[in-house]
Amino acid sequence: MSEPKLNLVGGDWVAGDTAPNINPSDTSDIVGHYARASAAQTQDAIDAAKAAFPAWSRSTPLERHAVLRAAADEILARKDELGRLLSREEGKTLAEGVGETVRAAQIFDFFAGEALRLTGEVLPSIRPGVGVEITREPVGVVGVITPWNFPIAIPAWKLAPALCYGNTVVFKPADLVPGCGWALVDILHRAGLPEGVVNLVMGRGSVVGQTIVDSPDVSALTFTGSVPTGAVLAAKSAELMRKVQLEMGGKNPFVVLADADLDVAVDCVINGAFFSTGQRCTASSRIIVEDAVHDAFLDKMTARMADLRVGDALAPDTQIGPVVDESQLAQNEKYIEIGKAEGARLVAGGNRVSRETEGYFQMPALFADCTNQMRIAREEIFGPVASVIAVRDYDEALAVANDTDFGLSAGIATTSLKHATHFKRNAEAGMVMVNLPTAGVDFHVPFGGRKASSHGPREQGRYAAEFFTTVKTAYTLA
Ligand code: ADP
Repeated sequence: MSEPKLNLVGGDWVAGDTAPNINPSDTSDIVGHYARASAAQTQDAIDAAKAAFPAWSRSTPLERHAVLRAAADEILARKDELGRLLSREEGKTLAEGVGETVRAAQIFDFFAGEALRLTGEVLPSIRPGVGVEITREPVGVVGVITPWNFPIAIPAWKLAPALCYGNTVVFKPADLVPGCGWALVDILHRAGLPEGVVNLVMGRGSVVGQTIVDSPDVSALTFTGSVPTGAVLAAKSAELMRKVQLEMGGKNPFVVLADADLDVAVDCVINGAFFSTGQRCTASSRIIVEDAVHDAFLDKMTARMADLRVGDALAPDTQIGPVVDESQLAQNEKYIEIGKAEGARLVAGGNRVSRETEGYFQMPALFADCTNQMRIAREEIFGPVASVIAVRDYDEALAVANDTDFGLSAGIATTSLKHATHFKRNAEAGMVMVNLPTAGVDFHVPFGGRKASSHGPREQGRYAAEFFTTVKTAYTLA
């Protein structure tokens, strides 16, 4: 057994019970053993972050810049190795794993720059002789709780702004994929962060996550994960009057209008619904197609799906890696049975497939003849399963697109400026894509949604400051 990877508490690597990190492409391949923090160790981490806050919150922009810059450089220099680790522990293809790693480096790079661009406002008061200053200050100890589907990018887009604006952090990566989170913290630690500024507590949501959530010393909580867990976090945070930022599920619509370039539409849906094995909160899962092109669209989709190569995430020709684990695969299969029982027609995929190694391989699934009331069109499946819903015209397409509990991303394929413009204005989603897949975003602009998808300020880009800082207004009589 290789040396277990430990948790970082107050600048020290601390041991504990370990759990194996298993490769979903090959369950005989153990990526490593990772310590699971206890509740007491998690409390120690919170205490360490609290103790480190006064000094770090007063660190200079250049100190913060230097650490974030060094982290960006090291992540980029190691993109192939870290991308491989990511694909091995999570199952997205190597190209996706390396791409996500590069994205993490870009995010650290962006916030390294932001650290040097911290600003405030100076303005005259309405009272004579009085000046007013508006500044942003760090919030305090930030709890960071992340999911398994983006093991390096999501931790990066929470840790980088938290540190940039002078907060200290207690970070819990998802139990299924601790490898990238560990690597990121190791990089930050060696980049020169003072002890206690970033603390790593790997382990279970019910132990580690709950201890973070229950602590009144955690001044702000940023979470990406499921709606039920998010609801628990929101309730506790309200009780503690704590700032909270939640990114949760999606049931993202992609509309295909009769005037669309069908090849563009099919590219968008193949990518949005099935790449990263459909395991993205921005995945397209409701494909809303005008009657006039419905059959032609289905023909093109099923032809393309027949050629999709599902297999080992690390194999160079794989387009779609395995599902992350047995319980997620069982959930996907459960929904495929639900869809059939509801009267939807499975026109492609959905079956488990075997490969040379034991893994959780499933062919992407497409249902036709769906209604927007079916459970497969309302509940987030979080796998490579999409439902096609036929509609008469644009107005019905928009109504169906908006008829959902979620509101993260919404896409449309059209060559009509009128419809594109109307859709951008009227889609009830935080992000709207025209002739682009619902998944796939830039790192320098806001990310987030509406309704049950998100709660609290946006993530990423300069909008991240809304969550990771608090505003102070100071008045001075000169
Ligand atoms: P998913 O596993 O679908 O990503 P979860 O909401 O279960 O969604 O998990 C997201 C993150 O939240 C993970 O890091 C998980 O360990 C953590 N988590 C789960 N339950 C709790 C909880 N009660 N309190 C705090 N964190 C939790």
